[in-house]
Amino acid sequence: MKMSRRKKSGAKMKPPGSSALNDERATLGWLRQMMREFVAERAWQKYHTPRNLAASVAVEAGELLELFQWWTTDEGDRRKRDLMADAAFKHAVGEELCDVMMYCVSLANAMDLEIAPTIAAKMAKNRLKYPPEKFQGHYERPLPT
Ligand SMILES: [Mg+2]
Repeated sequence: MKMSRRKKSGAKMKPPGSSALNDERATLGWLRQMMREFVAERAWQKYHTPRNLAASVAVEAGELLELFQWWTTDEGDRRKRDLMADAAFKHAVGEELCDVMMYCVSLANAMDLEIAPTIAAKMAKNRLKYPPEKFQGHYERPLPT
């Protein structure tokens, strides 16, 4: 008797053409599909409105910032030096960073927004706004135009 195999959650979640997951192999398309599947498997599309997702990006960004709350400059410098050795802290930062990114990806999904060309266009604007010869080694807020 042939047993039916239930599709394992995450079966499609491996990045294309690889067995080991890393940032070089993973694509934005793969991330977007993983988030689509996670949401669809729970029928959470009704919650994934652009407004809710934008709010969730801000909430998770707050959780990320909370990890650095009340650091003085000196403490921040010391903690930064120790960060690579502090596995628990680095793990916590990574989790909050991923929460922000996953909501960003879900917002792009909800709005059918292409991330890569949008980033490329925004970076083209930033390159014009901050020419390296004018902003080399320093930053100042450009005057409003
Ligand atoms: Mg979080």
